[in-house]
Amino acid sequence: MSDNIKKGGISVETHHIFPIIKKWLYSEKDIFLREIVSNATDAITKLKRLISLGEAAENEAPFRIDVICDKEAGTLTVKDNGIGMTEEELEKYICNIALSGALDFIQKYEAQDDSASSGIIGHFGLGFYSSFMVADRVELVTKSYNGDKAVRWVCNDAGEYEITEAEREGCGTDIIMHINDGEDYLELSKLRAVLDKYCDFMPVDIYLSDATDTKEDGNPINETCPLWQKTISECSDEDYKAFYHKVFNDVRDPLFWVHINADYPLNFKGILYFPRIGNEYESIEGQVKLYYNQVFVADNIKEVIPEYLLMLKGVLDCPELPLNVSRSYLQTNSYVSKVSSHIVKKVADKLNFMLHNERENYEKAWGAIGSFIEYACLRDRKFYDRVKDSMLMQLTDKRFVTLPEYLENAKDTNENTVYYATDRSLQSQYISLLNANGIDVALMEHVVDTQFAAMLEDFDGKVKYLRVDADVANAIKLDESVDESEKLAELFKKASKNDRLSVSFSALKDESIPALLNVSEESRRMEEMMKLYASRLPDMDGSYPTEMSLIINTRSPLIEKLEDLAESEPNKAEMMASYIYKLSLLSQKKFSADEMNGFLADGFALLSLL
Ligand code: ADP
Repeated sequence: MSDNIKKGGISVETHHIFPIIKKWLYSEKDIFLREIVSNATDAITKLKRLISLGEAAENEAPFRIDVICDKEAGTLTVKDNGIGMTEEELEKYICNIALSGALDFIQKYEAQDDSASSGIIGHFGLGFYSSFMVADRVELVTKSYNGDKAVRWVCNDAGEYEITEAEREGCGTDIIMHINDGEDYLELSKLRAVLDKYCDFMPVDIYLSDATDTKEDGNPINETCPLWQKTISECSDEDYKAFYHKVFNDVRDPLFWVHINADYPLNFKGILYFPRIGNEYESIEGQVKLYYNQVFVADNIKEVIPEYLLMLKGVLDCPELPLNVSRSYLQTNSYVSKVSSHIVKKVADKLNFMLHNERENYEKAWGAIGSFIEYACLRDRKFYDRVKDSMLMQLTDKRFVTLPEYLENAKDTNENTVYYATDRSLQSQYISLLNANGIDVALMEHVVDTQFAAMLEDFDGKVKYLRVDADVANAIKLDESVDESEKLAELFKKASKNDRLSVSFSALKDESIPALLNVSEESRRMEEMMKLYASRLPDMDGSYPTEMSLIINTRSPLIEKLEDLAESEPNKAEMMASYIYKLSLLSQKKFSADEMNGFLADGFALLSLL
């Protein structure tokens, strides 16, 4: 009998490896199951390939992987009906794990922290040995597809093994792990959670069962053909939505999605979703899951998706990347940066496509994604160049237009100028004045909108953005000569108590407005910038005097009356001028507490004169 037992030590050098596996991979223990199950998947894939080549006999039983826990025996078994191994292969692939250079590598990284070590398992084909993170003894029973006798290999956590003959029905491999005390890998719920995370989309049916429970649940726990592996024409909108709900646990429908199927040389597949973001308190951090041939690798790989698209949720399957990737590997890998640029291009293509083919949906989504897309443009000039003609603006009357559409409409009234409002209610008077003159006003209520506009002016060179209270009189005045009254100008300057105020005269179409404030776009932008700096630098004084001019409407009957009053009752005239000035201020900006009190006091004083 003893003749049939072969004994050995894994290799002279590998006794170093066992303690390292245990120590270094402590924090990522769960991945042992991913490693063992993906080996089983590989074994089945290999056998399928041989069958298709006619080099192996057709398999009668369906291919499957069984994960069986046996609490009484204290074992966790992963069983496959794949290619199996001959005794020779067992010795070659399992017993000789120390590859040249492995020890050097280990010594080099021994002094470093855990994060650097996570790549080691994959690097040196130690995947199988990660089982020793959770087991003190591992048995492997395997029978090759070529009909050789089955063999059993048993190894303890010191790396000492023995090989004996064994019995096994059919070809394939069983990995029986004797789980260490204190580990919860014999709990079905724990196993289910780990399998759901790493093996949810593996290409072979996986069954999870409890050896002590005879009730068989006949359903595989995974989905062997995930949506991203299908061609776009095979997937319906409902499929995309259902996949999103399942994978991201989000009951809401996504806004839209991009299905990527990149051929050689990039060779990756994926689906990226624009999620519906409910309210501002919700985290906008997306979730992009990275897979390697349907085996889950990691979440939120920032290196693959540019930072400005991180609100996306989705899956990416990159078989060109190793299963065990480290952050530092991804950061310096040129393949990764190509994948990343391809994703950016596809997202841009999708936006352009939607503009031309799904305008209604696109407009609906824009409210939710507009700011993100503008931000992305600010971060990446190339992305901006790709999508610049597909950016939408919402007008104050709720319509959506692109910049070219806006400018086309504005040709006769405000050529190359976009009028915008930053506050729909505060600036409503200006908005109505412009609208009444056939001029559209874009709504730019987010900070990023105005930053984007400034960038666009810079890149475009021709187009100019003006807030509704800048230069408005120019847009709506009549072309007629006006009498400029020096006296009135002085009266308003005095009444306003603002020595920087300049006063000018225009004939505005709308007679009901006595005066309007014009705030220079440049000086207002400068003021906003100073405020921003001041908020960052506490010592800085953020005040910057904005240049304002008050435009007196010579066609207003009220102004005519004021002129008469200035002769007869100068005191009343000053009160009236002060109030008109304050009303024009009110329609342009939010009052400070002092301004509000002054405004109310003026109003009451005027009423008392009635
Ligand atoms: P890797 O999978 O990275 O090559 P592993 O240590 O996980 O490294 O496995 C080493 C080798 O052992 C595999 O390449 C394969 O040839 C063989 N092997 C492991 N598990 C199985 C299995 N379930 N069936 C057949 N061969 C296996």
